[in-house]
Amino acid sequence: SEEITIYPTFESMQLREELLRGIYAFGFNKPSAVQQRAIVPIIQGRDVIVQSQSGTGKTAVFSLSALSAVDLSIREPQVLILSNTRELAEQSAKVGMALGDFLNVSIHACIGGHSIQDDISKLQHGVQIVSGTPGRVFDMIQRKELRVRHLKMLILDEADEMLTKGFKTQVYDIYRYLPPTTQNVVVSATLPQEILDMTDKFMNNPLKILVKRDELTLEGIKQFFIQVDKEEWKFDTLCDLYDTLTITQAVIFCSTKQKCEWLANKMRENEFTVVQMHGNMSQKERDKIMAEFRQGNKRVLIATDVWGRGLDVQQVSLVINYDLPSSRELYIHRIGRSGRFGRKGVAINFVKQEDVRILRDIEQYYSTQIDEMPMNVTDLL
Ligand code: ADP
Ligand code: MG
Repeated sequence: SEEITIYPTFESMQLREELLRGIYAFGFNKPSAVQQRAIVPIIQGRDVIVQSQSGTGKTAVFSLSALSAVDLSIREPQVLILSNTRELAEQSAKVGMALGDFLNVSIHACIGGHSIQDDISKLQHGVQIVSGTPGRVFDMIQRKELRVRHLKMLILDEADEMLTKGFKTQVYDIYRYLPPTTQNVVVSATLPQEILDMTDKFMNNPLKILVKRDELTLEGIKQFFIQVDKEEWKFDTLCDLYDTLTITQAVIFCSTKQKCEWLANKMRENEFTVVQMHGNMSQKERDKIMAEFRQGNKRVLIATDVWGRGLDVQQVSLVINYDLPSSRELYIHRIGRSGRFGRKGVAINFVKQEDVRILRDIEQYYSTQIDEMPMNVTDLL
């Protein structure tokens, strides 16, 4: 495979002066390993596949590249970032705005659930970077409110999810509208072989920055399991853990919206303070919960996989799989909601007898270690 050049500092990347100021003002001193490798090739115009462990700063990789690529004198969309959830698209837009604070650049989150009229008026006022979810972005392109003639870069965050059924056709629908010269950047912590094969169809000799399967789990995130004899025991186990959950912040994953709603209500009936988030809630409610959780006003969040990927709340140090995830990839993403950028994290899996095999399979697949939960788990947080 191709030699990859390392740029050890942000200064060595030849970024705009205003962008460097933005980086330092945002609190970054030194680029992470993936930032040292991926930013410059993207800026140079290469198609790049960017894989690195969760919480290692992939958002800044594509945000800084996007901010560098924009011709500030053209007040039209030039970079399109697509994400799998509205919250993630919003988060990436905010990171871009913060890093680009000294650039006089216009970034807009184009997401379902927010006002179409607001999207239209923002887009008419010269947006240069659009971060959105596929449905709303496609809608805006079809209405010709999102003009594509100056688009030069497409970024697929959580690319393996974006190229899987559910999103794949939507992404390809958008893709057909983009100029054929558009540069492609695909980003994720997990890129299974079938996804890498798929990138051959639309990427041009991409530079591949990849992580081996046995290096994908982070040292800083300790993984455990608690065996439960029947489903009903999970609830008692969770109640017993509540004090541990509130030491910092925690996310508890359930497999369905109904289960998420049920568990949140049952916890509250038992006098525990929790909030919930899933796709059956209005966007207004979701936004409110997101804000409360980010501020740390609410410490325990029960969620579906709407929270599985990408979302970054540094204070989260505990993840519980109340139900195991539906894929090996999601396992990596879920536990990666903790242990952001080198912080410590703990992941606890509730497993019924029939789940043991699934968890062992995950453990083997990633050559990682998932032990029975010790008594002193709080020492690890
Ligand atoms: P990923 O997308 O790889 O999972 P994120 O881009 O969400 O990770 O970044 C994880 C956290 O690391 C964020 O809180 C981000 O602000 C922080 N971060 C990223 N790059 C740096 C850096 N160079 N220095 C310090 N913190 C960073
Ligand atoms: Mg990310």
